[in-house]
Amino acid sequence: MSELYPLGLRITGRLVVVVGGGPVALRRVRALLDAGALVRVVAPVAVPGLDDLQAAGRVELVVREYRDGDLDGAWLVHVATGDPRVDAAVAADAEAARVFAVTAGDASLGTAWVPAVARQDDVVVAVNAGRDPRRAQAVRDGVAAALAGGELPLRRVRDGGRRRPGRVALVGGGPGDPGLVTTRGRRLLAQADVVVVDRLAPRALLDGLADDVVVIDVGKTPGHHPVPQSQISALLVEHALAGRDVVRLKGGDPYVFGRGGEELETCRTHGVEVEVVPGVTSAVSVPAAAGIPVTHRGLARGFSVLTGHDDIGRVPGGSDHTLVLLMGVTRLADTARTLVDAGRPPSTPVAIVEDGYGPRQRTTVGTLADIAERAAAVGVQSPAVTVVGDVVTLSPAWTGPAARTVLAAGVLP
Ligand code: SAH
Repeated sequence: MSELYPLGLRITGRLVVVVGGGPVALRRVRALLDAGALVRVVAPVAVPGLDDLQAAGRVELVVREYRDGDLDGAWLVHVATGDPRVDAAVAADAEAARVFAVTAGDASLGTAWVPAVARQDDVVVAVNAGRDPRRAQAVRDGVAAALAGGELPLRRVRDGGRRRPGRVALVGGGPGDPGLVTTRGRRLLAQADVVVVDRLAPRALLDGLADDVVVIDVGKTPGHHPVPQSQISALLVEHALAGRDVVRLKGGDPYVFGRGGEELETCRTHGVEVEVVPGVTSAVSVPAAAGIPVTHRGLARGFSVLTGHDDIGRVPGGSDHTLVLLMGVTRLADTARTLVDAGRPPSTPVAIVEDGYGPRQRTTVGTLADIAERAAAVGVQSPAVTVVGDVVTLSPAWTGPAARTVLAAGVLP
């Protein structure tokens, strides 16, 4: 038989008497006020926080020893005086008045226990652990982390009669590895009713979704756009207005060549609440996967991120300013020529990193003079990130064996 019968209390507007004026009492008072309780504190001496609450009109503070009648009208009593005799006397009065009492010092004197609590939005998990508060807190911390990280199925299955409009989250999914999404992103995914996903998003995360989550694949392949951007934005709005929580799962970061701004604006125009969750951009992480830091003391003082189609002649020159080029591997020859025409030495090191963090990750290195030829020789394919600058020399692919094409195996950090 368990002594404990777990219960939630609707405490709003009901009187709770707290006997004791120390830090434990203050913590309890704050939690009770958060739940909307009316709070009376009885204590000869009170910590300043309680004085402040009284000054703000939020609690009734009775500054004296506890006496008979203090529990009148109470639905619940908390005792935390630090004096076992007073605690026992209050607990006995509560028992006689048939009011539940929580006793902070010696829990066995009381008739109710306060659990350790983990909250995520409107989900509340209360933990009791055999009268061992530290153990309960440790379990609670584990649950809280799992809730925050989206490891638990947080999705609303029933709206509980409280209809609210759906929301959209533009979630940066990172470069593809499921471990490189933020915990916030994961949690929103665990709450989503609809997931609209790109080709380069971390698709492994979709495997964890419940069967009835709607997954819409709007993946683009270069030169082939199955779902036009305007239609993607319209989809987000449509589902949100129908009351569904939507995650737009994108590759990398939503604001780095991700058209996040456009989707955000369309949603806002239609009055849909949007949140943008940053992600690990491929512009920085894919070079890192190949052992290339985009800045490095003595080698690169800064970096620019461009698409291969851009007017790349206008960025700072010099091989100590790293260029990171997204997209556009097919136009590599043009790009390299433009950079040389703009004044970069033909000997500037270049690396192309294909399928960063993926099973076909491969780094091909060369110089502005020969990279296009080398890339063609090995059949470089999208998705790939091209890095131009001295930092490329830090890659194991550059320092490695004579053939400057190195397969991912063994060179991942
Ligand atoms: N918002 C994304 C970029 C979108 S543009 C981000 O922040 O990463 C798409 C381009 O990103 C691709 O053409 C390629 O250049 C690059 N890319 C994204 N993921 C990649 C990966 N895993 N490996 C190599 N390149 C990648």
